[in-house]
Amino acid sequence: MSEFDFDLFVIGAGSGGVRAARKAATEGIKVGIAEEKALGGTCVNVGCVPKKLMVYASSYPQQVKNAQGYGWDASIGEFDWPAFIEKKNAEILRLNGIYGNLLDNSGVTLFKQRAHLIEPNVVKVGDKRIRAKRILIAVGGQPFVPEFTGNDLCITSDDVFYLPTQPKDLLIVGAGYIAVEFAGVFNGMGTNVDILSRKNTILNEFDRSTVDFLTQQMQEQGINILFENGIERVIEKDGKKQVTFKDGQIKSYDEILLATGRTTAVDNLGLKDLGIELTKTRAIQVDENYQTNIKDIYAIGDVIGKVQLTPVAIKEAMGLIGYWYQGATSAKIDYNNIPTAVFCQPNIGTVGMTQEQAEKENDIQVYESNFRPMSNTISGDTSRMYMKLIVEKQSQKVLGWHMCGQDAGEMLQGFAVAIKMGATKHDFDSVIGIHPTAAEEWVTLN
Ligand code: NDP
Repeated sequence: MSEFDFDLFVIGAGSGGVRAARKAATEGIKVGIAEEKALGGTCVNVGCVPKKLMVYASSYPQQVKNAQGYGWDASIGEFDWPAFIEKKNAEILRLNGIYGNLLDNSGVTLFKQRAHLIEPNVVKVGDKRIRAKRILIAVGGQPFVPEFTGNDLCITSDDVFYLPTQPKDLLIVGAGYIAVEFAGVFNGMGTNVDILSRKNTILNEFDRSTVDFLTQQMQEQGINILFENGIERVIEKDGKKQVTFKDGQIKSYDEILLATGRTTAVDNLGLKDLGIELTKTRAIQVDENYQTNIKDIYAIGDVIGKVQLTPVAIKEAMGLIGYWYQGATSAKIDYNNIPTAVFCQPNIGTVGMTQEQAEKENDIQVYESNFRPMSNTISGDTSRMYMKLIVEKQSQKVLGWHMCGQDAGEMLQGFAVAIKMGATKHDFDSVIGIHPTAAEEWVTLN
């Protein structure tokens, strides 16, 4: 009899954990996985998936206005928030079921309980001691809540998907991915939205001129961005949440959404007792093969604090499977040129260096275009598109691709392949455009 109950035991059934578990099981490995919440982790339950459904839901009023521009006798009624939430919940339940089936069909043993480490090769799940040859921690993260009086009156992205009613007035604190995405969602649904940024910009780490373009588009849609300010305190008053801002202003909202980043979910896992090292940002420290400082204990995904994106966690899982069971010499994945999209309105798509990063180390050329897409000429929709290519002068290699406009995320995926392959501006120019599309602009930039 083996000294182990499982060859691999995964803690956390989110995107990275589920992928690692079921791919390992299909290699003939005996795998267990523990998850105390719903299967699929942040992405499926309180992240990418329900957020994108909300983005779709919020887009219809503008689509109806556009239809009117084209001559349709169209009108839109009220948005039925509870009906939408019910449908969204049903879809998430369907996906939870698919994740369960994927695990089941590949032969993974699922424990619907919390697990924590008690010895290097032993986890405790409920009252069971489970011995595993390898343990993989893929527990992800959770919203970070800053300290201020009344922070308990605010909600986070975990709550926003389950609000019983649509807020009429919403303050979003923070100016990153989640803040701008929900600003677009709620503004599209008819909520009055204020964003509160502690800096003089939003999306601080993105390409500046692309963000400036987005800022202007959001402001034109009626989103109010409060720059260089913060919250002093929040109190409940007259059924609303009254905010006193750092500059002394006072304003009341139905809800306040804290979108101030995420922290790793490293508490109560037994990490300290085992001496597992954390980084300064409380992420689990791993080497290039995702091993912690303790032999046989590995970690991937948001909990290692590298890049908090679902497809990155999945790639890390695949890297490990290749390394453990398929003869790869390393588990390491390539973190260069990771494309990312922000599903604000309009979307941002970006890959490679920002202009600010590129010009620090390179002699660069910048190509830009700012135009009204053809679909908006008749519709009357005033939203525009912005495209920007950053090119290294000598080699003509494309260093950065940035777009703000409708379907930027969709457009980016194919270009990301080209840029990953080392495409030059000449390569872009040598391609014949597809007419009439907005994307053809990428091969005619000058
Ligand atoms: P981000 O790191 O993107 O943004 C956090 C924002 O909160 C920044 O504007 C930051 O300001 C601000 N902030 C941080 N601390 C405070 C504070 N104490 N007071 C006021 N403001 C504060 O985090 P998000 O929460 O938006 O998203 C978390 C991560 O999830 C993202 O980084 C991304 O990796 C992932 N994600 C990806 C999505 C996608 O792929 N489309 C969608 C949503 C999330 P400052 O800039 O000054 O630091």
